[in-house]
Amino acid sequence: MLPLPAFAFVDLETTGTSAQGDRITEIGIVRVDDDGARVHVTEWSSLVDPEVPIPPAIQALTGITNAMVASAPSFSTVANDVRALLDGCVFVAHNARFDYGFLKHAFARLERSFSARVLCTVRLSRRLFPDADGHGLDALIVRHAIPVSERHRALGDARAIWSFVEGLYRDQAADRVDAAIRRILRVPSLPPQLPPDAIDALPESPGVYLFYGDNPLPLYVGKSIDLRERVAAHFSQDWRSETDLRLSREIRRIEHERTAGELGALLREAVLVKALMPAHNRALRRKEEAGIARWREGAPKFVPALGVDRDALADAYGPFASRASFRGALRALCAEHRLCARRLGVERSAGGPCFARQLHRCNGVCIGSESPQDHDARVAAALAPLAIPAWPLAGAGYVREASDDGERVDVHVFRDWCFAGTARNDAELAELVECPPRTAFDPDVTRLLLRRYRAGKLELRPVGVA
Ligand SMILES: [Zn+2]
Repeated sequence: MLPLPAFAFVDLETTGTSAQGDRITEIGIVRVDDDGARVHVTEWSSLVDPEVPIPPAIQALTGITNAMVASAPSFSTVANDVRALLDGCVFVAHNARFDYGFLKHAFARLERSFSARVLCTVRLSRRLFPDADGHGLDALIVRHAIPVSERHRALGDARAIWSFVEGLYRDQAADRVDAAIRRILRVPSLPPQLPPDAIDALPESPGVYLFYGDNPLPLYVGKSIDLRERVAAHFSQDWRSETDLRLSREIRRIEHERTAGELGALLREAVLVKALMPAHNRALRRKEEAGIARWREGAPKFVPALGVDRDALADAYGPFASRASFRGALRALCAEHRLCARRLGVERSAGGPCFARQLHRCNGVCIGSESPQDHDARVAAALAPLAIPAWPLAGAGYVREASDDGERVDVHVFRDWCFAGTARNDAELAELVECPPRTAFDPDVTRLLLRRYRAGKLELRPVGVA
């Protein structure tokens, strides 16, 4: 029910209101873990010896007296337990800045750092019930009929704010509550189970990144020309994609490998995805959807690329990212060259003039105003720029890719628009040329190579020639 896997509802009792000068006298924590199937609730509380006297007015309010805390553990004694309970959780409190600030200072006095994503239930109440009178805990308790065991004691109040949130999910539309919580948590939006510096630790350079959950195999492998920006994007889009939502829940750590450039990142991603089969990988699905096209006459045919032999690339068109993009390309050709969408197989109408003909935008093979041979001759010309060109070398070729800072050079070896491997030095290159691994057609690789080749930006050199 909760939008993130772990929340800790926290309340503190203190000797006063200054996180700097006052001390904690009691900590109550209700930790709620949601594994997607079931909610687990763990409660913990302890009196804390503040090591300073509690003012009488505060004793009267909370019922916590100097005598009660005299034999209680100090904060340093319970710090490890508190830390463990809050680990990986969103920190939830009423007027969260107060409780969060006290805990941060308490840890700081032990020379330990503490940070968490913070959800304030005052803000949550304001966001969901902007017209309500008051958002103090007493107002919420009355308005939402929240059962209270021990008001003004830490665990009693922590239970009350958990009951408040639990009740929201019972009484309101869950996606509305989720959206309000996410909005408040927006900054920073890193999944709480990741270390806070997980993004900052990534280089702003090309490479591949691997997301790991609890298993030794990665959940996801991706590539980017800017690792830091791309990884951050997975967690900062309000979890619009289903995959990113799942990744946010399951991710436990991030690894990365740098490459010299974009091409190297794409090639490395292709190799890793094939070898590791990550559970949530789009790259694999992307390849399953991709294809090439064949055409002799009439309508071009889409051929799914997975399993296509590299020899099949001769006399083929594309590659296309998907059947939909293949059809889109054909429609664009129709519009540009006054071709007939029905004869090209992208319009289903049964007889008579095709739709474009009715607007005088088809030369009219559909109604006999143009011969099929003439139409096909125009199709051949229109398709020509999409033809996969013959491999321009006698044997294997390589592309040298250097990083912007010049510190890294990758040498990628190809043959017939297919990838053979990447060498980081002469020995590796010699090895690749002597014993080339079997190359397989990968539509992503071929598409990227051809895009550069057609733009005159692929510096392909024959292997063995300096
Ligand atoms: Zn037509």
